[in-house]
Amino acid sequence: MSKRDYYQVLAVARDASEQDIKSAYRRLALKHHPDRNPGDKAAEDKFKEAAEAYAVLADADKRARYDRFGHAAVAGGGGAPGFDPTIFSEFDDIFGSIGDIFGFGGGRRRGGPQRGADLRYDLDISFEQSATGAETTIQIPRRETCETCTGSGSAPGSPPTTCPQCRGSGQLRYQQGFFTVARTCGQCRGSGRIVTKPCQTCHGEGTVEHLRKLTVKVPAGIATGQRLRLMNEGEAGANGGPPGDLYVVLNVQEHPFFQRDGNDLACEIPVNFTTLALGGEIKVPSIKKDTETLKVPEGTATGSVFRLRGKGMPDVSGRGRGDLLITVQAITPRKLTKEQRKLFEQLAAILPPQEFEPTSRDADERGIFDKVKDIFG
Ligand SMILES: [Zn+2]
Ligand SMILES: [Zn+2]
Repeated sequence: MSKRDYYQVLAVARDASEQDIKSAYRRLALKHHPDRNPGDKAAEDKFKEAAEAYAVLADADKRARYDRFGHAAVAGGGGAPGFDPTIFSEFDDIFGSIGDIFGFGGGRRRGGPQRGADLRYDLDISFEQSATGAETTIQIPRRETCETCTGSGSAPGSPPTTCPQCRGSGQLRYQQGFFTVARTCGQCRGSGRIVTKPCQTCHGEGTVEHLRKLTVKVPAGIATGQRLRLMNEGEAGANGGPPGDLYVVLNVQEHPFFQRDGNDLACEIPVNFTTLALGGEIKVPSIKKDTETLKVPEGTATGSVFRLRGKGMPDVSGRGRGDLLITVQAITPRKLTKEQRKLFEQLAAILPPQEFEPTSRDADERGIFDKVKDIFG
């Protein structure tokens, strides 16, 4: 098999600068990248060829030898050029694939310490609990390091032995053409060790399913969809890796009376229309389980909104409280006593049904009265 000239491979001149060689290689590597050309053998060959050319031309010493003596001068054992992986380390976006193909790491390693999986727990709390904050106990099933074998998977007294197939490296290397190719060892699945007598507690897994009780502190003011992160309370890591985290995702139940909007609370209070007409004081329940007094001025229109500052939900990060917004709704008495009826009739006599002026200074309401006037001419 004849090899192409490395300058030709990268399509650069013989006196090309380091920078020219670098950008020429990057262009080719991205073009023929295995991720972009899945299953394309020709592209993979081009990708390898470019990497080989770059490995030589990017190294001043190798380039000088290549210039004088050609391919033979830079060939490593078995004709391979003897890669220095660090030459590729600056190509972040292609380095992993080069490592996978040529077997010098950089790709996904198995068998090393792995962080445990993050877990999610959905927690329902009442509206009142979100207003006051709460402490609750949850139970999560999760995999924890087996105590019997401390995670090794081997029965006590029978430590795992070195994998005979890969001699503990977790990888099998073999020569393919000019290159050394590494594959994950099938016998030990990349861990480099073989469990000969599995631990009886975890059946060789190294982890066991456990129902763990945890106390969760829910801060006051938390809202639906917000989450709490409990560090290191996720699943156990593998091969001595750290555990994952636990995310508690909150779902706050609706309140029959209050609606939440940010840190503000809104509610509707039915009020006798006489109170709205004459003005007065009304009682408003608050989320803090006490009662607030709201002064309603004379001539208040139904649907008017009043704001009680600082009577809403506490801010979850402790920055004060939101407001309470109260919408007053006029209620019409359904059944009148004799006396009430008499008084209403007197009122009706001096307050014609459709010819009074709007009491509110609200522009919208004025608009409605003007329109009604227009209809009747
Ligand atoms: Zn075990
Ligand atoms: Zn092995």
